[in-house]
Amino acid sequence: MDDSRPADNRSRIESVLDAERADLEHSAERTRAERDDVRDGRADASADDEHDPEGSTLSSEWSRIEGIRRGLSARLKENMQAMARLTAGTYGLCTRCAGKIGAARLTARPSAGLCIDCARELEREKSGA
Ligand SMILES: [Zn+2]
Repeated sequence: MDDSRPADNRSRIESVLDAERADLEHSAERTRAERDDVRDGRADASADDEHDPEGSTLSSEWSRIEGIRRGLSARLKENMQAMARLTAGTYGLCTRCAGKIGAARLTARPSAGLCIDCARELEREKSGA
């Protein structure tokens, strides 16, 4: 068992973050292609046409894709910031309260820059409480 010697741990996290970034970039590329299809009117909207004869299919498809793109680019940014924190030696610490981010959270979301408490708090603030 690896008793989380810092060096080992770091290269393990690095490869997790690398894999995550590759994944996100791949999805971003796919989404970009999808968006181009919609823009050029080449989208295969046959499935949606039936219940949407008005033709708003494309615009709702467009906003769906834009939503995904925004989400992906936010996560890519998070990923790069996590990589920077790893280099700086502050990976796994909350960027807001400097507390430790739980291991389960980091496993589920390796790029997480906030502990669960801060993430929830920000979420509440964002939703305009
Ligand atoms: Zn925090």
